[in-house]
Amino acid sequence: MAIVMLRPGRERPVIQRHPWVFSGAIGRVSGTPRDGEAVDITTADGEWLARGTWSSQSQIRARLFTWNPDQQLDADLIRAQIERAIAGRSQYAAGPNTAYRMVYSESDELPGLVVDRYDDYLVVQLTTQGIVARADAVVGALVDLVAPKGIYERSDAEVREKEGLPPAEGLLWGEQPPEQLLVQSAGLPGAPRLLADLRDGQKTGFYLDQARNRAIVAGYSAGRELLDCFCYTGGFSVYAAQAGATAITAVDSSGPALALLRENMALNGLNTPLEVVEADVFQLLRRYRTEGRQFDLVVLDPPKFAYSQAQVDRAARGYKDINLLAMQILRPGGVLVTFSCSGLISADLFQKIVFGAAIDARRSAQIVERLTQSPDHPVLLTFPESDYLKGLVCRVW
Ligand code: SAH
Repeated sequence: MAIVMLRPGRERPVIQRHPWVFSGAIGRVSGTPRDGEAVDITTADGEWLARGTWSSQSQIRARLFTWNPDQQLDADLIRAQIERAIAGRSQYAAGPNTAYRMVYSESDELPGLVVDRYDDYLVVQLTTQGIVARADAVVGALVDLVAPKGIYERSDAEVREKEGLPPAEGLLWGEQPPEQLLVQSAGLPGAPRLLADLRDGQKTGFYLDQARNRAIVAGYSAGRELLDCFCYTGGFSVYAAQAGATAITAVDSSGPALALLRENMALNGLNTPLEVVEADVFQLLRRYRTEGRQFDLVVLDPPKFAYSQAQVDRAARGYKDINLLAMQILRPGGVLVTFSCSGLISADLFQKIVFGAAIDARRSAQIVERLTQSPDHPVLLTFPESDYLKGLVCRVW
């Protein structure tokens, strides 16, 4: 096995079980590991620290799987980790239509592997050389432990590119899943059902990470007029309608997503007055401000704005802009539910941005609740990068 020796003084993150070894931390590599192969990580003095998988093209040269020298990086380890991830979601009884994230990559100590459960089907993302090289072990373990009808791959092309991997999509095992599946977020009995578009939808078909937050926002919806910005297939809108929102305006730039939103409303028997707008949220909010249109509840759930440190300032301006506009069109005492899913924007920074927006909007705003990703997206303490979704529920006067 090849040995990756760290530079002097660069061992601390590895000792503290951070699962990434960046190229800059590496002093010397003895042997010529191929992509995906197991490598041992040692200090500059040769003291064994951890074992991971090699990726020659990524800035993250090694992803660590174990800190136990006796543990091989084999199918047994993959299976044991998947088993543990499943055990950690035992509260999500696998009822019909159930949807939740079953394996969450580094957070479940399986770097590069995401498994989302949609009823009887599993959608997987294999995004690193190490996990791609072990795809057979992954599929074998999932078939054994879950007995799904089918396993479908929807690997995130952008992340794979950084690893030097081609995009990948298609059936890995069993039956092809239907184009669309009606699912209910696990752990939320009585919640509405929503269509997940497993093959063409965003991510693996659905934003599972917002499940808990949709139920929370429903609690602010009765008797309120909602503006659901970046609504995708209407997760927040459908929950709000079921909870008694008086009228809903839902905005997204994706026409197909909006078509599913309409279907989702109908499938749940909801006939709340609904305006569906295919538009750019930045422009639409400006137009509503000019027109003097007002709402009692505004949800802002934009896509990731910052993909690198260099984009953080620009992203911060984007967040400030939409939050400022949203506050300006809220009736006094209205509620703003605002999210950022950019991991590079910290919770602190996000709060400062929303503070800046309130000052500029000349509105007084109180944080009444802080939101995070759903519990099927746990945050590994040694990997704070997995803590990416933050939300604030603000009452705006
Ligand atoms: N709230 C959704 C998830 C939102 S994901 C849910 O609960 O499921 C972000 C959404 O923003 C995507 O649907 C994407 O199509 C949309 N989007 C991205 N940029 C946009 C823009 N400038 N204006 C409007 N929608 C945008």
